[in-house]
Amino acid sequence: KTYNFSAGPGVMPEEVITQITQAFETNAHTHMSIIEISHRSKQFQTIITGAEKKLRELMHISDEYAVVFLQGGGSTQFEMIPLNFATKHHNIALLDSGNFAEKAAEAAKQLGNKVTILNSTKDKHYQKLPLLPDNFDATSADYLHIVTNNTIEGATFHQNNLPKTAGRLVADMSSNILAEPYNVSDFDAIFAGGQKNLGPAGVTVAIIKKSWLTEQDLTGVGPMMRYQNHIDKQSMYNTPPVFAIYALNLVLDWVIQQGGVTEMYRRNLEKAARLYAYLDQSEFYTAPVEVSARSLTNIVFTTGDLEQDKVIAKQATEAGLFNLNGHRSVGGFRASLYNAQPMSAVDALIAFLQKVEQQA
Ligand code: PLP
Repeated sequence: KTYNFSAGPGVMPEEVITQITQAFETNAHTHMSIIEISHRSKQFQTIITGAEKKLRELMHISDEYAVVFLQGGGSTQFEMIPLNFATKHHNIALLDSGNFAEKAAEAAKQLGNKVTILNSTKDKHYQKLPLLPDNFDATSADYLHIVTNNTIEGATFHQNNLPKTAGRLVADMSSNILAEPYNVSDFDAIFAGGQKNLGPAGVTVAIIKKSWLTEQDLTGVGPMMRYQNHIDKQSMYNTPPVFAIYALNLVLDWVIQQGGVTEMYRRNLEKAARLYAYLDQSEFYTAPVEVSARSLTNIVFTTGDLEQDKVIAKQATEAGLFNLNGHRSVGGFRASLYNAQPMSAVDALIAFLQKVEQQA
């Protein structure tokens, strides 16, 4: 048995892969495979409306919010969010908790906005979360941008340590959406690229508070960049990523069948706790992220010797444990334990790490 610890595109449920494989065959009735159907077909209508309904059910998304399926990944959201919402002050407040917060800041700046970094833990290698300063004046910024889970560095704003702002809050949930519970009502906009917990790359989910949109003057913003256009056309303002939405819909079915976000969270807590417990008692490896902020989905650790880490990650590949290298910018190890990762993967990883430790 082999396991894939990739940070994304990441492991998908085996049952979903089986269904996808079958869908690539020409259907006896329609004479088409899944990548040949029209987005205007009844078949796809059922898929996309089903996907929205299921996501709403899983995240308890009320009618106050619109849900749209877009393309362009999380990175395009780094531009769409400021284009749609940084329209009054052209000032975005941001907590710098890692690489993807920095990237979002850079994109917003290039669009001509001011980005106020309220706090950063860069000098601590992002192993701690930046706290919201008490004197933050929410009225001076259009919104506060956070990344709930820092995919590369492994620190997370869990629901219980979210910054409490009096203003608007935008969250990049790309790497922990549906992995742990969040109250959607605490946010004004949420986005997530699909390729970690939702399905394959190619679809990006955006959850937008409708009333916030109506307040904006979008003069000069092109049609594809306006959320309202995608909302008005039920995510079919242009041709949507039919296959990616098809696969996403199957993943959502799977999550519901397993018991929803509550059950995903229970499993993810258990998986992460087992791995962190092993790492914490080990004298060979360390998990450097502060305990209260530790990610459930991206577990970062090291032996303290980055060259040695590389050698061990290579040995892991030979043992059938794939993609354990940390992000190229930080090195070390990163074990991504998304929803579809079984506990047996964690057990296999611990057994491997233990063996290496004993031989060291
Ligand atoms: N935000 C987070 C938290 C991510 O982990 C990633 C990618 O890994 C991105 C944004 C960028 O997403 P994409 O590659 O889909 O543009």
